[in-house]
Amino acid sequence: MFILKGIEQLQNAITKAKKVRPRIEFDHFGRYRVSGSKGYYTVICRKDERGYKTVACTCKGAAKGLACYHAAAALSLHIGLARRHQTAE
Ligand SMILES: [Zn+2]
Repeated sequence: MFILKGIEQLQNAITKAKKVRPRIEFDHFGRYRVSGSKGYYTVICRKDERGYKTVACTCKGAAKGLACYHAAAALSLHIGLARRHQTAE
């Protein structure tokens, strides 16, 4: 799991996601499944109790606190959905 502070920390992961083009499946708002080398990983995007945006992925890289490309791929969808949520309110 890592705390999302800015898009800069995702730059490498975004580049990789663009290259790999994983499949992203929408589960519900904040929860996505992203295809990886060993099947699907679950990515959870949420705000913690302190208001930090946290991103968790079930892959090994994310377990070490790295911003993986699964998270970057899921976030691109999540951010678009979050914007739509806000404008709908
Ligand atoms: Zn991952």
